[in-house]
Amino acid sequence: MTTQPIDRFLDYKSPEGGCNTGDFVEVPLGPRKVLGVIWGVGEGRFDPSKIRGVSRVLDVPPMGQDMREFLVRSAEYTLTPLSQMVRLATRAPGLFDPPSMRKIFRMGTGTPDRMTPAREKVLAVLEDYGDMSFTLKELADMAGVTSSVVKGLAKQGAVREEDTPRDLSFPLLRHDFSGVALEGDQNGAALELREGVAARAYSTVLLKGVTGSGKTEVYLEAVAECLRLGRQALVLLPEIALTAEFLTRVEKRFGAKPAEWHSGVTMTERRRVWRMVGAGGAELVVGARSALFLPFRDLGLIVVDEEHDTSYKQEEGVLYSARDMAVLRATYCAAEVVLASATPSLETWANAEAGKYKRLDLSSRFGEAQLPEMRAIDMRSEKLASNHWISPTLKAAVQARVDAGEQALLFINRRGYAPTTLCRACGEQIGCEFCDARMVEHRFLKRLVCHQCGETKPMPIECPSCKVEGKLAPVGPGVERLAEEVTELFPDARVAVLSSDLFSSARALKEQIVSIAQGGADIVIGTQLVAKGHNFPNLTLVGVIDADLGLQGSDLRAAERSFQLMRQVSGRAGRAAKKGTALLQTFQPEHPVIRAILSGEEEQFWRAEAAERMEAGVPPYGRMAGIVLSSIDVQEVFDLGGEMARLDGPLRAIGAQVFGPAPAPIARVRGRHRVRLLVKAPKNVPLQKALTKWIAQFKIPNTLRLSVDIDPQNF
Ligand code: ADP
Ligand code: ZN
Repeated sequence: MTTQPIDRFLDYKSPEGGCNTGDFVEVPLGPRKVLGVIWGVGEGRFDPSKIRGVSRVLDVPPMGQDMREFLVRSAEYTLTPLSQMVRLATRAPGLFDPPSMRKIFRMGTGTPDRMTPAREKVLAVLEDYGDMSFTLKELADMAGVTSSVVKGLAKQGAVREEDTPRDLSFPLLRHDFSGVALEGDQNGAALELREGVAARAYSTVLLKGVTGSGKTEVYLEAVAECLRLGRQALVLLPEIALTAEFLTRVEKRFGAKPAEWHSGVTMTERRRVWRMVGAGGAELVVGARSALFLPFRDLGLIVVDEEHDTSYKQEEGVLYSARDMAVLRATYCAAEVVLASATPSLETWANAEAGKYKRLDLSSRFGEAQLPEMRAIDMRSEKLASNHWISPTLKAAVQARVDAGEQALLFINRRGYAPTTLCRACGEQIGCEFCDARMVEHRFLKRLVCHQCGETKPMPIECPSCKVEGKLAPVGPGVERLAEEVTELFPDARVAVLSSDLFSSARALKEQIVSIAQGGADIVIGTQLVAKGHNFPNLTLVGVIDADLGLQGSDLRAAERSFQLMRQVSGRAGRAAKKGTALLQTFQPEHPVIRAILSGEEEQFWRAEAAERMEAGVPPYGRMAGIVLSSIDVQEVFDLGGEMARLDGPLRAIGAQVFGPAPAPIARVRGRHRVRLLVKAPKNVPLQKALTKWIAQFKIPNTLRLSVDIDPQNF
């Protein structure tokens, strides 16, 4: 027997009563007992009398073959040890615990020592219902007696008392509970998605539609089809804060809420979800990227909503893209993947262009809602007082909405009060002790915070460098500082600030979002958080404070990101009957990306982007991997990095090139120095194999960490 608790397969004797491939087991490992999965029959390399035995088979549904194949393949793809991948798939508390039990009562064989009217009532109920069983309370209630009467009968054997696993199922979803009448191209799109699910074969579809075009309504039809077929469905959402609205929609459509899987779910609930997903008792799961590793019994549909969202990339531990893993998983379980977005990633757009993915377009907003009008505010001709960021033009537009009883949203993609704290005496900018990052003042918390590592310290009085007191000054705007300006400009307006760090819990954030949607604020000031799919029906103006922000830097994806973010944010305006306007403050209105954002000529934008990437030979037209070396010792990382760049034979053999070593995008995090090598390879070469061979040439000291990021986000 082979199990897999560490980086290679281990052999164990099968337990009494046997076990099967896929079973979850408890096995001894040194002095410990650990969790394992039976991966197959051993190769007979060991004398069975010399090896230890499986301690016990756990009482959870076994891991299916499709899941095992998926884990093997995703381990190969991400160059992660299989054991680590399996660990992702077994992140459920209480796997060792027995399932929770409860008592049930049914007709017994004994005779009571004496009869009473109450006892007779109980026995009459049991007789009536034949072989049915009841909980204590059910039986007592039905007989109209107290529970002590039932207990008394049980003691004498006249009623049988048994332990049975507690039913952990989720309420049944009904595929035909209710539905909306689809309109226009929604119909065709829904039909195609339903057919895709009904085919019970792998396929991937890009569902592209402007915000408010009904993508959610349409993919819920695919979920309905999946439920009808008795298969399970998974909907991935990028932001947990969004789930509140989504859960309500699911309940309206299918008559009950789905299972949830994300960081806000309690341990007890996780345990229930994990088991029920495996047993098939959870039909629909709504979750964060890690939900992809749940042990679905029969997964027929995966929806990746807002598929372009960068939070789908896991940036710590196992580095994977949930979007790509969703596609991989679907190939092993014959499922349909729906990638939904108003602004797809260039990768997905290109895959649709190449015919690898099907593409369905929803071209207009539902009902009366129209797309917002988009305009630039040329900041070169606006007069602004120092430390103010809202131009007179934008101010007038906001005022008009407030006067009309409508809502305005001001967007700035910077948390905290000010991005930089500068000493006016010596010019020092306060940085993090452990990272190559500036500390950001959070006035609300009265502290400086490092957005890299989370380190915080009280706002100092004196400059840490020159020790002069009272000269530290905020430079530039963050969301909190903008709120200050808004309060000053619009003293009578009700202002709400939406920034992830201002909320102590996901629940508080959800409540704030609901309150805004119900009209609890006139002006909303928000960071990236507001770009994601909230529906504020009375919001008619979006003002972008700094549309140029994302265009700085040398990242090849900067244009794509800016385009997506600006279009998403602007899409918040005018989602109901009233037409919306989006105003972008910019110093470079003629910049091609700003022009594309304003004109909305997306196909043209993507074609231009695609041409640039093709020219540079980078994804999606070439392959890429980032190798990050980190250590406390800066010399050590550069030494090894240099050696790796020199000994690049296995990479050259497949036509790949190595760039670097160079300081990683964040050159120091939590005191560890980081350098990065970028490997660029042609499209159809065995990149992972070559990387493995290349890396195997080097001895990696214990003090140094090496991580491989296939398809890195930044390049
Ligand atoms: P998207 O996911 O593309 O942003 P939604 O599915 O959220 O769009 O739809 C936007 C709004 O329009 C929602 O309130 C939704 O309920 C409504 N809607 C979309 N299509 C229909 C329809 N055919 N009938 C009724 N309401 C619809
Ligand atoms: Zn830091």
